[in-house]
Amino acid sequence: MLLEGLRRQVVEVGLDALERGVVHGTAGNMSIRDEESGLIAISPSGMPYAIVAPADVVIVNDRGEIIDGKRKPSSETPLHTMVMRARPDIRAIVHTHSHYSTVVSCIRPALPPLLTETCLVAGDAIPVTRYGLTGTDDFGQSVIEVLNADTRAVILKNHGLICFGRSFADALGVAEVVEEEAKVYVHALAANGGREPDLVPAALIPEMRERFLANYGQSPAKT
Ligand code: 13P
Ligand code: ZN
Repeated sequence: MLLEGLRRQVVEVGLDALERGVVHGTAGNMSIRDEESGLIAISPSGMPYAIVAPADVVIVNDRGEIIDGKRKPSSETPLHTMVMRARPDIRAIVHTHSHYSTVVSCIRPALPPLLTETCLVAGDAIPVTRYGLTGTDDFGQSVIEVLNADTRAVILKNHGLICFGRSFADALGVAEVVEEEAKVYVHALAANGGREPDLVPAALIPEMRERFLANYGQSPAKT
């Protein structure tokens, strides 16, 4: 089977996302790019995560043309391929319908920098797109319009969340910390009579991120 390892990863990240509660039913989709060939393994459209097998995962090229697979690829294939073409550093994409991120998508133009942990992993404010027509190039374009060189997450207007990484563990980790920040934001707004809560000072975010990326955790030599 072509790119069997990547197909397995798509199955596994779907189950993982389901278990962590960031997707439900058939909502959301995932893709990962093979560095050598540039081909992309993407989840099949409209199949519950629990029944997807590696053979159901579809292999497409960066224009979304099917290279291998018996299933229809995700309806959001244009979104995934447009992001991968715009940002060659992105290898894995996880799109979810996480509850609190979706709440924010309905009420605000961005999720402000509220939690230190989210700022370390995903940087400053997480942008919310304009409304894009789901399943079309226009939806992809709505994300491209707010994407910059190191955007790790974008909130999709009246829809959900999309996160980017070098691996699925990386992208799913971003999805979790952004959802946590969105949850705290919604609760903080409610607890604060609808007024904006206190934020992480924007001027400190680049330095704290740099230090985190360089120093956090155990150095490989010592483990
Ligand atoms: P697919 O099942 O076609 O991937 O669609 C799910 C979804 O989240 C659409 O935005
Ligand atoms: Zn969706």
